[in-house]
Amino acid sequence: MSGPSVRALSASRLLRRNFPTCLPWKLSPHVLQSSQAEAVLSRTNNVLSFAPLQTFTDEEIIMKKSVRKFAQEKIAPLVSIMDENSKMEESIIQGLFQQGLMGIDVDEKYGGTGASFFSSISAIEELAKVDASVALLCDIQNTVINNLFKKHGTEGQKATYLSKLVTEKVGSFCLSEAGAGSDAFALKTRADKHGNYYVINGSKMWISNAEQAGIFLVFANVDPSTGYRGITCFVVDRDTEGLHIGKHENKLGIRASSTCQLTFENVKVPEANVLGQVGHGYKYAIGSLNEGRIGIAAQMLGLAQGCFDYTIPYMKERMQFGKRIFDFQGLQHQVAQVATQLEAARLLTYNAVRLVEAGKPFIKEASMAKYYASEVAGLTTSKCIEWMGGVGYTKDCPVEKFFRDSKIGTIYEGASNIQLNTIAKHIRAEY
Ligand SMILES: Cc1cc2nc3c(=O)[nH]c(=O)nc-3n(C[C@H](O)[C@H](O)[C@H](O)COP(=O)(O)OP(=O)(O)OC[C@H]3O[C@@H](n4cnc5c(N)ncnc54)[C@H](O)[C@@H]3O)c2cc1C
Repeated sequence: MSGPSVRALSASRLLRRNFPTCLPWKLSPHVLQSSQAEAVLSRTNNVLSFAPLQTFTDEEIIMKKSVRKFAQEKIAPLVSIMDENSKMEESIIQGLFQQGLMGIDVDEKYGGTGASFFSSISAIEELAKVDASVALLCDIQNTVINNLFKKHGTEGQKATYLSKLVTEKVGSFCLSEAGAGSDAFALKTRADKHGNYYVINGSKMWISNAEQAGIFLVFANVDPSTGYRGITCFVVDRDTEGLHIGKHENKLGIRASSTCQLTFENVKVPEANVLGQVGHGYKYAIGSLNEGRIGIAAQMLGLAQGCFDYTIPYMKERMQFGKRIFDFQGLQHQVAQVATQLEAARLLTYNAVRLVEAGKPFIKEASMAKYYASEVAGLTTSKCIEWMGGVGYTKDCPVEKFFRDSKIGTIYEGASNIQLNTIAKHIRAEY
């Protein structure tokens, strides 16, 4: 008597064990969706070619070089003292404005530099190679605050506020509260309408750059009975009565970046200061953070690269057992692994930027870039301390500061688990 065929047997076993049915080997069209590259016409030989991700326009190269020079000449000498004092030097903030780094991809008609989104990202990366706090200041201004005004501001708001943000005033993004972190839309700050103005009451936590900011984008709920659909974004001037800037947090890293609590006590804001539409604040917050995450990826990438660049020359000089420590194969393999991960983080970050510029879906890729670059920054800076030995553990060299600064990448603008949630949500929808 012939028994069941192998195929039938294994199929029935699979069913009995309640395994998912195996699909025949066939690529789902979705698998390739996000990695599709487009052919471009090469300028030199007029044939179709694919530009490597590290291909920059002349303008982007100039921006990269000029930011590098500014960071080396003006920021580097102040990094250690700013970290120690927990205070950003005013000369650096002024320098960022003078260099056009606070309105990089803002139209020249508002006083901006009129460069690309990539230029913003590469400026953040270059600044973070020297100081992650300065990079954060540039990041929030460009990828979050200016972006929100560009996308949702009226012409009047752009003329009044965007033009100041690119030339003289720092902006703060005020979403988080004591009870609303990862679950940001659980926010309790209220905005009640009276005639042609709103009255804001509540408090915010962890607000970056609040000590220096002149303009605050505040998310408050105009109708809590509708849940997150009541969340609205308001433009609040620093000198508005009832706005109090509280305690500056004493932090592990990015110490030069001010992080403060804010309280709003009957803060009166004209109706004309609603950014975009009433009740659409949650969409604007999500949208701006999606792009903002690429900025944080660039910040993490830059600081990891800055730390690596500092450490390798030391390893090529330091002698032990009659050899340079770089020449031990055990160390070379570790260095090669870290360098590979840095390259992967860079490619993820640049790919996310180019997707934004091309107007293509980018949310999954932005989350991947931010998640991965944060992991790589933690690993790189930790390894650099080990590779430098005792010297790396002291405050005499910047490696320990890079290590402290790296941790924030796994927390703000969506903690690492939240990025993984976003990535998984996309994967679920793709299959
Ligand atoms: C230095 C600094 C600067 C900041 N700047 C700003 C700013 O300018 N503006 C602003 O609005 N906010 C800012 N924040 C707030 C920041 O965005 C929040 O800290 C962040 O969203 C995490 O919220 P939380 O701290 O309340 O942590 P929680 O939400 O309490 O998370 C704690 C842990 O639980 C995990 N977790 C939470 N939910 C889930 C889930 N569903 N699944 C799995 N794991 C989960 C998280 O991943 C995390 O590991 C800043 C924070 C810091 C520390």
